Amino acid sequence: MKMTEHTVKSFMEGLANETLKGSKCTNCSKLMLPPRPICPSCGGKEMESHEFNGEGTVKACSVIHIALTRFQDMRPHCVGIVWLKEGVGVSGLILSDGKEVEVGSKVEAVFLKEEDRTVLAFKPV
Ligand SMILES: [Zn+2]
Repeated sequence: MKMTEHTVKSFMEGLANETLKGSKCTNCSKLMLPPRPICPSCGGKEMESHEFNGEGTVKACSVIHIALTRFQDMRPHCVGIVWLKEGVGVSGLILSDGKEVEVGSKVEAVFLKEEDRTVLAFKPV
């Protein structure tokens, strides 16, 4: 049986399937997103897959007025840090012009399909 990889690649593959695939240290139970092969807390190398449910709150948010080309049709939007319910921070797009989103706002993960990849974003709930 092939070992599950715990890398940015496995994270990207998870996004393509509309899941938030992270890893969990089997030694100290630390959760990581994106997954990492080595635990930053205890140095452990035994990881198991952990799927995050995508609900969280905004921890930081900056409105981007000059968007990357591929996001032109949805500007302005925010880029921010979302603190997931599981206690892990993850950065991503926040689909808002910044007016209805502030620190502490509840958001959930959405998966933006692009030609060759899927981008993680969050939308207000
Ligand atoms: Zn650990």
